[in-house]
Amino acid sequence: MEKMYDYLIVGSGLFGATFAYRAARAGKKCLVIDKRSHLGGNVYCEKTEGINVHKYGAHIFHTSNKMVWDFVNSIVEFNRYTNSPVANYQGKLYNLPFNMNTFYQMWGVRTPEEAQAKIEEQKAEAVALMKADGASEPRNLEEQAKVLIGNDIFEKLIKGYTEKQWGRKCSDLPAFIIKRLPVRLAFDNNYFNDKYQGIPIGGYNKLIDGLLEGIDTQVNVDFFSDRERWESLADKIVFTGKLDEFYDYRFGKLEYRTVRFENEILDKPNYQGNAVVNYTEREIPYTRVIEHKHFEMFGQEVYNCPKTVISKEFSTEWTEGMEPYYPVNDARNNELAEKYRALAASETKVIFGGRLAEYKYYDMAPIIERALSISIEK
Ligand code: FAD
Ligand code: UDP
Repeated sequence: MEKMYDYLIVGSGLFGATFAYRAARAGKKCLVIDKRSHLGGNVYCEKTEGINVHKYGAHIFHTSNKMVWDFVNSIVEFNRYTNSPVANYQGKLYNLPFNMNTFYQMWGVRTPEEAQAKIEEQKAEAVALMKADGASEPRNLEEQAKVLIGNDIFEKLIKGYTEKQWGRKCSDLPAFIIKRLPVRLAFDNNYFNDKYQGIPIGGYNKLIDGLLEGIDTQVNVDFFSDRERWESLADKIVFTGKLDEFYDYRFGKLEYRTVRFENEILDKPNYQGNAVVNYTEREIPYTRVIEHKHFEMFGQEVYNCPKTVISKEFSTEWTEGMEPYYPVNDARNNELAEKYRALAASETKVIFGGRLAEYKYYDMAPIIERALSISIEK
């Protein structure tokens, strides 16, 4: 019997929506379902006091892939937002990522040579300590950070923040987490090294609406609540939910870190003068404060909107019922994920894609790149 749809797409996040867009353009009939009450997955925004509030955490689009950048801009134009977070350590402010502004604020050095000399001095101390302890390479995040940038920056800008974010000591975390933070001998506060970055003009919902225009969608429906019926509707399934859940947790459950958001509407136009302020000391329980309007309002626009919305982010361990945000890439979880991936690889009618179904911490651009790369049968 001919099925109603070519593809049933489980999940309307960027993976599902991008795939649906392409499949529809290729003449395929698609149904996109989502268990949440709205489309868009984690990039979804909620309008509050005229401000797009990033409901599942601040999202900044960045990529060096021109094909991906052109693709998203063909759906909605992006603004010139450049992420330049500020760190607050015990009331003193420092620019991020680590650059000449940070080094001036930390040590009073004014030139790249002076900064370089200071960093080298601190690095040498860290390397000597590490070697005295019998290691030739950094064995964990703490050693990696000190060897990269020295003890002062580690103590003030890295240690507390990282321990809050991951709920583990820096000496128990893998070194790679910190390797991606840029260190620059230039007065350049741009957090990313990528060629392109920005926020969709009008917000992320415009991107999702553009991708899903003309495509059948249903929200408030969980694939697992009536799996057989959903499976009977389409020839193929694109699954972007949790990989372990698809296989009924038969090998055990994968773990995640999650974030709890405390949102406040404030009766002032400008609270912190920046979209992102990190609180890097251990004693303050939240990791950062997001002031959403600064993603899309610049200069006078900030003051034309009389209120502001802020979110304090509390990073916590995930338990059932919470949003699964960050995969935990330790040995146990990686091994478990591999077992599930082996099952997934043998499926002929199911495509697994995205953050949850691949159990991989993907940024938005690589998700889109991947969804654009999957071949759609003629
Ligand atoms: P999701 O957006 O999670 O979509 C999956 C969808 O599937 C959800 O809507 C879910 O409800 C639905 N679903 C799951 N199971 C079922 C089911 N059983 N039945 C029906 N529906 C189901 N990336 C960046 O590039 N820049 C950033 O600044 C950035 N910040 C981030 C901040 C946070 C806090 C988080 C968590 C992520 C951030 N990311 C960022 C990553 C970005 O969110 C992801 O790359 C992207 O949203 C993943 O898209 P996806 O489609 O794989 O997953
Ligand atoms: N980090 C830090 N201090 C900061 C910001 C980041 O120590 O003010 C560290 C922290 O360990 C974090 C890592 O750098 O996990 C990567 O930061 P990024 O902002 O890239 O992480 P994301 O929140 O995007 O996963």
